[in-house]
Amino acid sequence: MPATKDTTFALSDFSPYKEKKGEEYMGPDMKVHFKAILNGWKVELMEEADRTKVHMQTDAENYADPNDRASQEEEFSLELRTRDRERKLIKKIEKTLELIENDDYGYCEACGIEIGVRRLEARPTADQCIDCKTLAEMKEKQVGN
Ligand SMILES: [Zn+2]
Repeated sequence: MPATKDTTFALSDFSPYKEKKGEEYMGPDMKVHFKAILNGWKVELMEEADRTKVHMQTDAENYADPNDRASQEEEFSLELRTRDRERKLIKKIEKTLELIENDDYGYCEACGIEIGVRRLEARPTADQCIDCKTLAEMKEKQVGN
């Protein structure tokens, strides 16, 4: 699978959804399944953010040596970026949970087709189908270069 800018979902305990025969896409059971995934992921991220905060507080000593200080500053700025990313991701998860509430979850925002259970399990915050996502990334690269 090609690497994309999406953050890969990393929830530890999670079992793939077993669709029943003829089950409606994004029916009540499926929604419960994805809600649990998203909520679990959010909790993990928030715990991670807390750990980072504690780490930064306990490590915030003044180093006399400029080299030590520089490497610590580097470490802190890395952690700040991580926290920023986590915060954005948590927001995205919250938005996605709202989509579930509003029955809008699981459909491509660009073309409207079903994103699909397997893709959503790999990337629960995906809001585009794989085709639209790939296309968007190609366009992004063209603009970027
Ligand atoms: Zn699409």
